[in-house]
Amino acid sequence: MKILDKQRFQNDLLNWYDQEKRDLPWRKERDPYRIWVSEIMLQQTKVDTVIPYFYNFMDKFPTLEKLAEAEEEEVLKAWEGLGYYSRARNLHTAVKEVKEFYNGQVPDTEDEIKKLRGVGPYTAGAILSIAYNVPAPAVDGNVMRVLSRIFTIYDDISKVSVRKKFEEIVRETIAADRASDFNQAMMELGATVCTPRSPACLLCPVQQHCEAREEGVQEILPVKAKKKAPRPVSLKALVAQDYSGRYLVEKRPDTGLLAKLWQFPYIESLTESDEDLKSFAEELSVNAEKFSYQQHVRHVFSHLVWEMDVYQARGKITNPAPNQKLLTKEELKELTFPVSHQKILYKLEEEL
Ligand code: SF4
Repeated sequence: MKILDKQRFQNDLLNWYDQEKRDLPWRKERDPYRIWVSEIMLQQTKVDTVIPYFYNFMDKFPTLEKLAEAEEEEVLKAWEGLGYYSRARNLHTAVKEVKEFYNGQVPDTEDEIKKLRGVGPYTAGAILSIAYNVPAPAVDGNVMRVLSRIFTIYDDISKVSVRKKFEEIVRETIAADRASDFNQAMMELGATVCTPRSPACLLCPVQQHCEAREEGVQEILPVKAKKKAPRPVSLKALVAQDYSGRYLVEKRPDTGLLAKLWQFPYIESLTESDEDLKSFAEELSVNAEKFSYQQHVRHVFSHLVWEMDVYQARGKITNPAPNQKLLTKEELKELTFPVSHQKILYKLEEEL
């Protein structure tokens, strides 16, 4: 592995960061709570998408205390559309732990912070370094990509053991007195210059230190084992409305995919005919004559793809189950729906 001139590398990286860093809302101060929320939101989500959610979330829950006291339903509502809702639930649980066991102060040691729900090695390192300037590694996919190129490391970055190897490299390389800036500079470099495809090596502040560039192999690094393609599932969803204009919706179970979110009832369906939909409506005690096609909704999860045909029906609806409700359009807006079912709601909004 390449021997790095550590001092020069730090200087080149940090000088560039001082001049080029983006003006992001969570960088305005070093409040560990704000940094924590931003880091959780940024997992699997792009910066531009996160910014409005972050402002909205901070308006609603400006302090850790306020978030700890909020109802889960309110927190999920503020997260609606960001996806990966377990992130919001874990964050909510963890801030309650901080309020109860750490007097409302986000812990500043690796041992303590890693015990909080949903705080993995990356988030722990990001909070510790950015908020408290602790020289802890914050290694995510971006940082692994940059380091695998600088040091021409061909190990598979999807393996935990390989992430640990990169963490050791950061511990060796981090500027101890500017840990916050160092980690943010590495993230920024990965996000804006050393991008997955066509890295901008000519503009790169650490090009002199980069072995992959020297060897011309930057485009083939990092090595990452291909994930299995998500499994497609065909669904039929029913938007049932009673004669007073209320819609039948149901709450998902407390655990598992999209736990506790609301949805329009649906079934898995392998047929194109609407016979199974009619039997499903009967099971739901929806007495309707006509089923009209509304739209097709496709939603990709990490392991599944929902291919959902949506139908609307109007009729008498009796005895909703305990997890179901009959609600007006206005009342539906109070609930939290996953993105796929929000698309159905938008369609209803378009109707006069
Ligand atoms: S020189 Fe190119 S490959 Fe190397 S770190 Fe910079 S952008 Fe990435």
